[in-house]
Amino acid sequence: MVAAHRPELPEGARTGRTGLAECRDVEISGSAQHEAWQARTLPPVEQLRADLWSIPVPMSGPLRYVSVYVFALDGGGLGLIDTGWNSDEGWTALTEGLASIGAGIADVRGALITHMHPDHNGLSGRVREASGAWIAMHPADVAIIDRPGGRDPEQFVRRQVELLLALGASRADAESDVGRPEEVETIRRTAVPDRLIEDGELADLPGWSLRAVHTPGHTPGHLCFAEERTGLFFAGDHVLPRITPNISTMAGGAPDPLRDYLESLAAVGTTEPDEVLPAHEWRFRGLRSRTDELAAHHERRLGELRDAIRANPGRTAWQLAGYLTWSRPWEQYERHMRIFAVTETDAHLRLLASRGDITGTGSPAPTWTLTVR
Ligand SMILES: [Zn+2]
Ligand SMILES: [Zn+2]
Repeated sequence: MVAAHRPELPEGARTGRTGLAECRDVEISGSAQHEAWQARTLPPVEQLRADLWSIPVPMSGPLRYVSVYVFALDGGGLGLIDTGWNSDEGWTALTEGLASIGAGIADVRGALITHMHPDHNGLSGRVREASGAWIAMHPADVAIIDRPGGRDPEQFVRRQVELLLALGASRADAESDVGRPEEVETIRRTAVPDRLIEDGELADLPGWSLRAVHTPGHTPGHLCFAEERTGLFFAGDHVLPRITPNISTMAGGAPDPLRDYLESLAAVGTTEPDEVLPAHEWRFRGLRSRTDELAAHHERRLGELRDAIRANPGRTAWQLAGYLTWSRPWEQYERHMRIFAVTETDAHLRLLASRGDITGTGSPAPTWTLTVR
């Protein structure tokens, strides 16, 4: 798995224990997707409306695929939400999926990218080369791709090592967990979007009324899209039906990403769209219930972390991650998985600190104790 740009958390490292059984008000509407998931196969290309389709583009890792949404546009041509993971297998799935609906890659006029992760933006460069389409993303995520080191393996590795050192890792652990620049060579090919789209703007997809909803948290520039004509809500990785999206601190990222995420969840949870179309897993109904579940999950996790700090005061994020419950024994965690777990722990620490629940010592690697009130 490519460590660059934080791909999805490996399933074994997920902290989510919020299965569908707990969310009685969440109804699976993508039943073909759900059946395929249980059968461990790729779901079919599906026609969702007269002029809207989903194409599953396979990817490495436990999430298996990203759903690319395809819109037929007034005046001809196609628009996309996300482009999929960059691999020959992914490219074949996307182009064959388009062929199955009577179209081709040259018909694509533009692609809206929910966020910078390589399972969403990976094929953007190939799509743009083959079609001349524009690629649009929120400026906060473009800034991460486009900054010095955003696409430079050496600088990327250096920044990741510095991040882990600042969380309390030894240099040996940090260097072995992050790995070598050669392992993240693919970030050189990351496509830099040529259009920006911000909160509240209507996407340039004629015939559709897709409004961008800035939902920072999973990444600083994550976007959902609310389609005002059909009542459909394209959720990206912000709200998924089965798993909790990974919320972690990142080098040069937001200072308090979990606070951002919970605010973004609350904001979209005030609406109840007809259907939620996420980037992974399956379509569902019941956005409000699902956002409540996700928020409750993080509050439980924050409570667990507070308890760990009470029992083990004066520890770093690196040490505290080892006191939390993970879906497999902590000693079995290694390399990239440990990075996700530690940066996720740090995101929870930062929210506890900004709420005044815990106090950190200064640099280089803060240690944490409960605040005496
Ligand atoms: Zn993502
Ligand atoms: Zn994703």
